[in-house]
Amino acid sequence: MIMKLMRFGWRQHTSPDYSSILCSKNFSQLGVNMNDNVIESVRRSSNIEELFGDYAKVKRQNGEVFVVCPFHAEKTPSLHVEPSRGVFYCHGCGASGDIFTIPMKLEGLGFIDAVQYVADRFNIEIDSDLDDSAHAIREEMKKALNVAQHHFSHAVSNPDAAAYLAERKVSKASIERWEIGYCPSSSDGIVQALRNHNLVDAAVSAGILRVSFGSPSCVFVNRIIFPIRNKIGQLVSFAGRDISGNAKAKYINGKETTLYSKSSILFGLSKAISSIRDWNRIILVEGYFDVIALHQAEVTEAVASCGTALTKDHVKLFSKLTDKALCFFDSDDAGRRAASKALPILAKSDIDSLMVNLPEGMDPADYATSNSLEDLLERIEDAEPLLATWLHSLSRTHDKTPHGRQAAANEAVPVIRSYPLIARDVVLRQVADILSVPYLALKRLVGNPAPTEVETSQSKPHDPLALALAGILMRNEDMVSDAKKLINLDWIYGAEERDAIEKILSGEPAYTVARKAAEELQPKLHRSAMGAGHEDPEKSLGKIVSRIEMRHLSRELPKQEGADRLVMQKRRLELQRRLAIR
Ligand SMILES: [Zn+2]
Repeated sequence: MIMKLMRFGWRQHTSPDYSSILCSKNFSQLGVNMNDNVIESVRRSSNIEELFGDYAKVKRQNGEVFVVCPFHAEKTPSLHVEPSRGVFYCHGCGASGDIFTIPMKLEGLGFIDAVQYVADRFNIEIDSDLDDSAHAIREEMKKALNVAQHHFSHAVSNPDAAAYLAERKVSKASIERWEIGYCPSSSDGIVQALRNHNLVDAAVSAGILRVSFGSPSCVFVNRIIFPIRNKIGQLVSFAGRDISGNAKAKYINGKETTLYSKSSILFGLSKAISSIRDWNRIILVEGYFDVIALHQAEVTEAVASCGTALTKDHVKLFSKLTDKALCFFDSDDAGRRAASKALPILAKSDIDSLMVNLPEGMDPADYATSNSLEDLLERIEDAEPLLATWLHSLSRTHDKTPHGRQAAANEAVPVIRSYPLIARDVVLRQVADILSVPYLALKRLVGNPAPTEVETSQSKPHDPLALALAGILMRNEDMVSDAKKLINLDWIYGAEERDAIEKILSGEPAYTVARKAAEELQPKLHRSAMGAGHEDPEKSLGKIVSRIEMRHLSRELPKQEGADRLVMQKRRLELQRRLAIR
């Protein structure tokens, strides 16, 4: 099925609006730039059930569709799909959304890429002949990245670059495989190359060039260049390692753009995916050279985050491929800090987390390039549980004095708190044991657990009646005009809910509103829409509006006086009667 989508109302400018893309870090906001009609058409022309089938087992039961949830580990399907509305909700983990949520969560894509991904998957043609849109700007950015990549690759034969890579024991094959490049001390060449393709603005947006006093220069001068690719192998940015010795920062990473979000990109993942699946483990390292050295040594399940600590989005990226993560960090203070940051993130997931031990002062690249593959694999196979390893190194870092024990315990507390409640007590005992601190004192120190992120989001109260109303309207867009006559927005408590309902009433597609709603509100809206499916919509709408109005009156009643009060009471009694009849 090839559908040509019209470009209903794409914004027209005389020159591309790079600045709006430049400063936008929030992908969902970009949905505003991609025309909603285009997005809705892609949603309508695609098939959510079929897309889920790419990732997980899909079961049809009595006309209902259930999926073994790809967002959390389970064996029996608890993710409920509504193909007719194109939405899903998981009763196990609370994941929810529409078809675009699937590639966003499972492929680590930003919103617009997710729309494109779905369009590609179902052969829906989005008119790309758009000289002026977020999409067109992103296409230009991709071209600029490729021109730059070509340029950097050519320059890698520069003697300084070649000498540096030889010193780091990077083989010729690795230079080719990883497309390692170099940016010389002068930007003239690359600026000219980009100018020849009329891509200077796009290169600025993509974080390759910067402009000062009106003239563009490359941000990566004097650096070895590592192209950064996303999970499906698309070039999204670069990182650079200084070789001049004069730069303030040894490494710089491309800035975040609409193509590149550091928290959801793992360097090397597109090359490591099949090994991660085959070996059922991922090896997390800290640096680009570590990834390259391990792959060069045939340990091809290694990846690294790009200039940022491990995030829960990173874990989401690989948790569908494997349930085992090995942290292979430098054996120094920085490596220990990296482990203490990774620990809470991994503790919250179902990932079995291990730590590879290295001789003091070494990093994985050193070890991989100066030892045999047997030795390297032996190290990796001997990996020990991450928590215990981290605790032992923490214990060694602080002395055995009471103050030293207190300091060690203080460092362990946030990690203990990241564990789910039941596991937490087991962890507490382990920490008390390894750090040699009294269990009860440690337990008091951990105290009443700070709520985890999930608990926080669940505990944030939303107006249940407003949610129910939104749910009905999401399922029955033809009822919006009725609702508009019945409801007064002042009756809705909670700014986010009111905002969502106001948008729906003003004619915005309800599922678009839900997608753009605050993050904690989204699943609640979807769940509410799911729940609203089994009743007569007209009846439910009347019932819910009455309840909302009655609640409002109950709150307002005490404030009213005299005759007003009597009128209000009468109104309330009428409403109560109406409700009793239903
Ligand atoms: Zn789930």
